[in-house]
Amino acid sequence: MATDILDVIRTKRDGGRLSDEQVWFFVHGYADGTVADEQAAALCMAILLRGMEPDELASWTQAMIDSGERIDLSSVPRPTVDKHSTGGVGDKVSLPLVPMVAACGAAVPQLSGRGLGHTGGTLDKLDAIPGWQATLSNDQMVAQLRDVGAVICAASETLCPADRKLYALRDVTATVDAIPLIASSIMCKKIAEGTGALVLDVKIGSGAFLPEIERARQLAETMVSLGRDYGVRTVALITDMEAPLGRACGNGLEVAEAVEVLRGGGPPDLVEVTLTLAREMLALAGIDADPAATLTDGRASAVWDTMIRAQGGDPDAPLAVARVTHQVPAPAAGYLRRLDARAVGEAVWRLGAGRSRKEDPVSPTAGATCLRKPGDAVDAGEPVLVLHVDDTARLDGALAALDGAIEVGPEPPDPRPLIVDRIA
Ligand code: URA
Repeated sequence: MATDILDVIRTKRDGGRLSDEQVWFFVHGYADGTVADEQAAALCMAILLRGMEPDELASWTQAMIDSGERIDLSSVPRPTVDKHSTGGVGDKVSLPLVPMVAACGAAVPQLSGRGLGHTGGTLDKLDAIPGWQATLSNDQMVAQLRDVGAVICAASETLCPADRKLYALRDVTATVDAIPLIASSIMCKKIAEGTGALVLDVKIGSGAFLPEIERARQLAETMVSLGRDYGVRTVALITDMEAPLGRACGNGLEVAEAVEVLRGGGPPDLVEVTLTLAREMLALAGIDADPAATLTDGRASAVWDTMIRAQGGDPDAPLAVARVTHQVPAPAAGYLRRLDARAVGEAVWRLGAGRSRKEDPVSPTAGATCLRKPGDAVDAGEPVLVLHVDDTARLDGALAALDGAIEVGPEPPDPRPLIVDRIA
């Protein structure tokens, strides 16, 4: 019997398993416009409510990959390995990580995205560097990978076009947070990009996309198993995002902090997460090297300069700074018990560093610097955060987002491990 779209939706609505034929019918039909948005939205909602079996998800992911081109990295002479983060506040890890891992002998083909909502996008951060270009053709991307060993650029329109369309639809139909849909959406792009190995950084805590550990672990396990199905050696780390990572949040501020790390400095939490991910990536790539050494001997910084120049950027150009700064004080004396990542992310977004629609511009200068982190002693009235903004009309909204975000008490908080779990 020929498949029809109502039959596909009904099957999932009633808790059934979609056949391979139904999956292909839907994914290709949605990509080429024969399946309507409202039908796709109904199916996404049914998947969110009913879930998917592992083999059904594998066939869905395959259909997403086959909706576009796959990048061929066979001409790259080094082992390839990438990292994907589910996103967080102050998560600029890719910036020092990619050159560091390349400096150790791997090639890192990172196709990245722009931010939507309270977490920033890697491309938005790099856009703060004068002259830097996010868009490369697939051939340019592969050539840079061969020459430099490191590339961070925008995914081309031809990579998993069905996912691109479906993700935009999920965003406006409250169907983003379905684990099979998230896992297939992330993994189809990584598989199509051609990487041989992949480390996933799945965040938990208030600033994370899935704050609860159980759901984050379920997502991590689903993605690791999909990676394995496709021959991509995949490991996931679950890391904490209850407070912002590092001190800088906001595009240009995060680039400056990443450069500090590349020069052997930077905040200890950011360095710890970056080095842990680098070690996992090198192990998967089969390279026995110490990534920490590349930060102190200048090798990672040299790869960064070459990678930025290769995409038209000037790594030595000064970054723009905001016109105005505004201090946010500690409400009392004691220990900083909580600096809520989601609230800081929301404030930074309201200052102009993020967008609410994908066509909105973002500010390279807006952001926040965390002068104090949870566990630090503070005096009453001492600044905990500094907000950076060009358009002062945005300050009130940012301050409202921070209401209740800073908690001070007589005792320091229990320490939270940064690296919470590892799933292989
Ligand atoms: N990132 C993606 O690429 N897809 C999702 O579904 C969620 C986050």
